[in-house]
Amino acid sequence: MSNVLRQRANTGRAKALAEGWSPAALRFAPGQQTVVQFSNGEEAGASCLRCTDAPCAKFSDEETIPSNFDRFPADRNPDVCAAGAINQPDGGGAPTIDAARCILCGVCSSRCPVGAIRLIPGQGAIVDDVPNVAFIEVADILREQHLTDRQAFEGLPAEGAQLIENDALVDEVFGRMQRAWVRVGDRFPNLLARNLLLGAGIGASVGRKGNNHMRMDLILSSPAVEHGVAEVEFGQEAVLDAPRDTMDALAVLASRYGWDLNSITAVVVTDVLPNRRSEYWHIIQDISNVFGVQIGTVTVFLLMLFNWNRRTLELGEGQPFYADRETESYRAEVLELLIGRAVYLSNSPRPQIDIAK
Ligand code: SF4
Ligand code: SF4
Repeated sequence: MSNVLRQRANTGRAKALAEGWSPAALRFAPGQQTVVQFSNGEEAGASCLRCTDAPCAKFSDEETIPSNFDRFPADRNPDVCAAGAINQPDGGGAPTIDAARCILCGVCSSRCPVGAIRLIPGQGAIVDDVPNVAFIEVADILREQHLTDRQAFEGLPAEGAQLIENDALVDEVFGRMQRAWVRVGDRFPNLLARNLLLGAGIGASVGRKGNNHMRMDLILSSPAVEHGVAEVEFGQEAVLDAPRDTMDALAVLASRYGWDLNSITAVVVTDVLPNRRSEYWHIIQDISNVFGVQIGTVTVFLLMLFNWNRRTLELGEGQPFYADRETESYRAEVLELLIGRAVYLSNSPRPQIDIAK
């Protein structure tokens, strides 16, 4: 059986909202089709509007370049899916998702204003595309009308989450991630980090491959960050070098490009947290003590939580990701603080979630 899930009756025709059906709210439930509440008092399942410029599949050019640093050699790779699982057919229509490649990161679903992509544990993401009473097929649609339909979903009140964490899901997602990394190759961590940050509402641009004169991995920018830089390292060994690499990047940005050191948000993005005795936490603390620079540590799981919950990370004042040798629990002091609730996970040690002894 094909791995490409086609939860849709895609005839190649356009889709539109039926007359008199104006969306008022969205209701999400993990693995289930999103419910759209309409201002006429009726409800219907969310169904793909078959956008020609599918934001679930491609970033716009403006999203891939930093708004604060025009000399940064940005990789303009527009793919929303770092795992290469989502594609839009030539000529438009609903995207297709290869479930075997999907890592359930949630970036595509968080970018669909309609809520037409659901995340199914044990299976992968799928696009709901079956027409219904509210989402009707039309022979053709003017671009303006399509944009009006889509914009009607933006900023709607929403309840529920597209995916809720549990132990088995964490194991599944990180197993899928390891396989995707092998398949996609060495660009996978940087692209995944960029995409997850963009999905969580933080401007992020990735440096071009082979760009040796400006070695920072990601530049962070508006809407959430004025000036920022991120080093991306996956794996317990590789992440040990990340604080020093971050300092290199900060030195270059301050001395060659005039960025104010005190106003730069600096983070390391990693899939696993180094254990408690690791030199990593010591160096982070030394840098803070000596240079007054707080380098935050952002986990892939934290970013996925924001994408699954369609939440925007608000960085604001200070460094909310900062953790060092004194941090008793990354889970309690960073992750749960930022998401605003306790996570539904056991206390079994997982380096994706907390700092191990
Ligand atoms: S899944 Fe959503 S964003 Fe993607 S084409 Fe369909 S309606 Fe547009
Ligand atoms: S959930 Fe993530 S991995 Fe799966 S198709 Fe969407 S962007 Fe790709």
